[in-house]
Amino acid sequence: MSFIEHDIVVVGGGPAGLLSAIAAAELGKKVVLFESRSKIGEYEHCAGLLSYEGLKKLGLSKLPPDVVQNGSIVGSHIHSPSGKTITVSKKKETACVVDRSLFNIYLSGLAKKEGVDIQTSSKINSLRRKEKLIELKLGKKQSYSTNSSKIVILAEGRFPRLNQQLGLPFPRRDRVVFASQYIMSNVKDIDINFVELYQTNKYAPGFFVWIIPINETTVKIGLGSKHAPSSKYLDLFIKNHSQAKIKLKDAVVEKRMSGAIPIGSFISKTYGRNTLVVGDAAGQTKPTTGGGVILGGIAAQISGKVASEAIDENNQSARFLSRYEKLWKKEMRRNLTIMKHVRFYLNSLSTDNVERLFSLVGEPKTKELISEFGDVDNQKTIVYRLLLKYRFWPFLAKTGLKYLFSK
Ligand SMILES: Cc1cc2nc3c(=O)[nH]c(=O)nc-3n(C[C@H](O)[C@H](O)[C@H](O)COP(=O)(O)OP(=O)(O)OC[C@H]3O[C@@H](n4cnc5c(N)ncnc54)[C@H](O)[C@@H]3O)c2cc1C
Repeated sequence: MSFIEHDIVVVGGGPAGLLSAIAAAELGKKVVLFESRSKIGEYEHCAGLLSYEGLKKLGLSKLPPDVVQNGSIVGSHIHSPSGKTITVSKKKETACVVDRSLFNIYLSGLAKKEGVDIQTSSKINSLRRKEKLIELKLGKKQSYSTNSSKIVILAEGRFPRLNQQLGLPFPRRDRVVFASQYIMSNVKDIDINFVELYQTNKYAPGFFVWIIPINETTVKIGLGSKHAPSSKYLDLFIKNHSQAKIKLKDAVVEKRMSGAIPIGSFISKTYGRNTLVVGDAAGQTKPTTGGGVILGGIAAQISGKVASEAIDENNQSARFLSRYEKLWKKEMRRNLTIMKHVRFYLNSLSTDNVERLFSLVGEPKTKELISEFGDVDNQKTIVYRLLLKYRFWPFLAKTGLKYLFSK
C-alpha cells in the first residue's frame, strides 16, 4: 500500500475533469487526474456537436484537423411529427462535429503539456475527509493505495458515486434521459451543413432524435428517451419513420454507443470543504439538447481556477470554495433554468400542439428571428424574443398554463 499526498486530485478524465486539471495546472498547481478506464477517450458516448462560440470561450478555437469530423454546420432542419420542416440557419458556420474520443485525447495532451499527471486504469473507489485533507482509495480491495489531497475535483460524469460520500447531492435519477447513437454509413440525402432534429414523442419520448452529418454519406444518428432501452426506440425510428427510413434504407451501422444525460437537474450544492463537483456529475448540461461539453467545460475551468486560488491562500474551506458555485451560477444558472422549462414544456405538449407550435414558429418572420438570435449554448435570448411575439400568446397561455399547473 502506498501513500501519496497531492495538492489537487481530479477524479474523471472526461472533458470536465481534463479542463479543470488544465486550468489549475496552468496556474502552476501540481495536479493528478485519475481515470478508471485504461485510456483517455476509450469510451465514446457523445455526438460531439460543439458550437464555435463555446469552443472559443473554452480557448479551444483551433482544434487539430483530425479531431474535427465536420467543420461546416450552419443550422438545423427541424421536423415535426407529421413531417413539417423548419430550417434555421446562420450566415456562417456555427458548430462543428468532433470525434469525441480524439477530442478527449487532444485535451489530455494539453493537460500533460501543463504538467498534469494522468493516471489511467485508476478508479477511485472511496473518499473520506480526514483533518484538513481528503483521503482517496484507489484500486481494488486488498491492493488499494491511499492518496490524499487538499482539494478533490469530482468529475465522474453521469451517475456519479462519489458526490454522496462527501455529503454532496447528485443529479436527479428520474430526470436522466437514456441515449443511444449509431454511426451509419451509406446514408442518402445528407445535407452536410445541417443537423436534422426530429421532435417526436413516439420515437423519442421526453427528448428528440438527431441526425448529425460527418460527411456526404455518413452520419451520427441518435436519440434520447425517458425510457430504457433507448436503442429499441432508435431501431424503430430507423425502420419506420416516414422521412428517415428513406434516407436510411441502405445504411449500414458502423458503430453503436449508448449513454445517459442528466437533464434539468443541476445539483443544489457543488462545493464542500476540500471538494468541488463539475460537469455531468453536477448536472451542468443543456436541458434542451443534452449538450454538456461546453457548459460543463466552462464550469470546469472555473473550478480549476478557484481550486488553485484556494491552494495559494491555504484555505480549502467550504466558504472559500463556494466562490466556484457563485461564479458558475452567475455564468449559466438563468440559462439552465429557462432551458429546463423549455424542455419540460415541450415534453408536456400533445402531438397536435407540437404541430401547432411548428406552424407558429414556421412563420417567416419568426424563423428569421430564430436564425438571428438563436444560440446553440445560450437559449434564453431567443426564448425572451419569442415571448414578446403576441401571435404566440394565445397558444402559450393555453399550453403554458397547463404545463405550469401540471408541475
Ligand atoms: C448519446 C449522447 C450524445 C451526446 N451528444 C453531445 C453533443 O453533441 N454535444 C455535447 O456538448 N454534449 C453531448 N453529450 C453530453 C456529453 O457527452 C457530456 O455532457 C460530457 O461528456 C460530460 O463530460 P464529463 O467530463 O462531465 O463526464 P464524462 O465524459 O462522462 O467523463 C467522466 C469520466 O470519469 C471517469 N470516472 C467515473 N468515475 C470514476 C472514478 N470513480 N474514478 C476514476 N474515473 C472515473 C469515467 O470513466 C469517464 O471517463 C452527449 C451525451 C450522450 C450520452
